Amino acid sequence: MENIFTRFGFNLSEKQLSAFENYYDLLNFYNAKFNITAITEKSEVYLKHFVDSIIGAKYIEGDFLDVGSGGGFPAIPVKILKPELNATLVDATGKKCEFLKEVVKELGLTNVRVICGRAEDLAHDGVYREKFDCATARAVAALPVLTEYCLPFVKIGGKFVAYKGGAEEEILSAKNAVKILGGKFETNEKFDLSGNSRTIVVIKKEKATDRIYPRPNAKIRKKPL
Ligand code: SAH
Repeated sequence: MENIFTRFGFNLSEKQLSAFENYYDLLNFYNAKFNITAITEKSEVYLKHFVDSIIGAKYIEGDFLDVGSGGGFPAIPVKILKPELNATLVDATGKKCEFLKEVVKELGLTNVRVICGRAEDLAHDGVYREKFDCATARAVAALPVLTEYCLPFVKIGGKFVAYKGGAEEEILSAKNAVKILGGKFETNEKFDLSGNSRTIVVIKKEKATDRIYPRPNAKIRKKPL
């Protein structure tokens, strides 16, 4: 059957399609209460949240941690597409975490945990630091700041997958941060989301991140690496 997913090369099972339907209904139902997304029209949610989130899924493996997951993007669509992954969703806002827990329960997703906290604090906790095969983030901060939030969570040999718009300038501006934090740019994949330009930036972790990173948030923001 032709649908928005097949147009982008994803052939989903009935079970996966119905999980996306349920997810859409939950977003719709809870949006007023939890203020999750400005995009509400169904075809827009499918394109700009669901398809956009799964386009980077081929780079995501094993245990992954999504920083600033918000309404669950990209983590929940990625988990629907690749149920074999283990997902940790982090968000600093209590309401967002409440919503995410509801989604996990209602969709019956397994091997997903939701943690309410700030990335730059959690990354200093030995339970999370350098423990993940992959970190992901979409629409959270500019790449130099985001790399400082995300790369400390990644194991050596793992990667950080950033979902970005037109990213050329951001990539250049993050060169120093990536190097200092022990990473290396691996790939950028550009794609066109029905007229919107999007880029998946893949940063490989090559060396351990110095213990001083991430710095406190005020410092990260005031003086990005
Ligand atoms: N990733 C989602 C949400 C983007 S909005 C999407 O693509 O739609 C940004 C989210 O990041 C918000 O929910 C905010 O609470 C969270 N956030 C921002 N800075 C954060 C930090 N340092 N640690 C954890 N969560 C953070």
